[in-house]
Amino acid sequence: ANIPTLTLNDGHTIPQLGFGVFLVEPQEAQRVVSEALATGYRHIDTAAIYGNEAEVGRAIAASGIPREELFITTKLWNDRQADAPAALAQSLEKLGLDYVDLYLIHWPAPQQGLYGEAWKDLVSFREAGLVRSVGVSNFQPAHLNRIVADGGVIPAVNQVELHPRFQQREVSQYCAARDIKIEAWGPLGQSKYGLDELEPIAAAARAHGKTAAQVTLRWHLQSGHIVFPKTTHRARMEENIDIFDFELSAAEMQAIAGLDAGEAGRVSSHPDEVN
Ligand code: NAD
Repeated sequence: ANIPTLTLNDGHTIPQLGFGVFLVEPQEAQRVVSEALATGYRHIDTAAIYGNEAEVGRAIAASGIPREELFITTKLWNDRQADAPAALAQSLEKLGLDYVDLYLIHWPAPQQGLYGEAWKDLVSFREAGLVRSVGVSNFQPAHLNRIVADGGVIPAVNQVELHPRFQQREVSQYCAARDIKIEAWGPLGQSKYGLDELEPIAAAARAHGKTAAQVTLRWHLQSGHIVFPKTTHRARMEENIDIFDFELSAAEMQAIAGLDAGEAGRVSSHPDEVN
């Protein structure tokens, strides 16, 4: 597959389609990531809390793929926001890497009041060469305002829940205005509703001879989102990467945009409630 790249606000590039490993059990993760790399994925999204960094690292090492051809993201868990240098060191050790391409604050956890300090640590990691790019996840505009208030470094990405029923218009507009790329987690709605039951998606799938998942991922890419759908099945890895031979029309894009249900479409946790 010919996966397009996007250029982040710090000048680094990121493959727009990657592979996510949330809820991939450690005993399966090396096999799953090895298969994803063999399928052609070069961007892997993990996190300390996923408990599979060591297995992801083993798959990377076994692949023999040159480091510079890979894009690896991991994330700082909430209980380490005051202890970010040690947390990053542990993630790098588990991954078997000298640096990650992207390091994110996983959630703002606003009740702790620590994400502003954690952000300064992330910026220092970038300066030290331990991470190439720095970003955040699950940040609302108020949280973003706080970290960029004093002329600080603007995050390269904000990774948020985003899928056809929950399109995050406010966060998206805020980020677009500041050249913060949106990474859409749960891009397929985490299988919590039937994409093929949504008529604009089903109609586009019929029109292009594609599956509802492929149409949805294509909609994300054409919307400018970075995505990394998760699956443990080889056939779905192939399906999810086979989205570069068709294009949704402006009318199809608009019809899918019309599926947004706002807050009612959220399928996972609200950032203010995760600590
Ligand atoms: P997702 O939307 O990718 O859904 C995953 C589910 O979709 C899988 O369990 C699988 O059953 C199904 N699926 C995958 N491909 C399919 C296909 N072709 N046809 C039909 N069903 C298919 O949800 P996700 O895993 O939660 O999100 C993707 C990635 O985003 C995660 O793996 C993780 O890397 C990241 N993530 C980040 C956060 C965060 O807080 N930053 C939270 C959740 C997920």
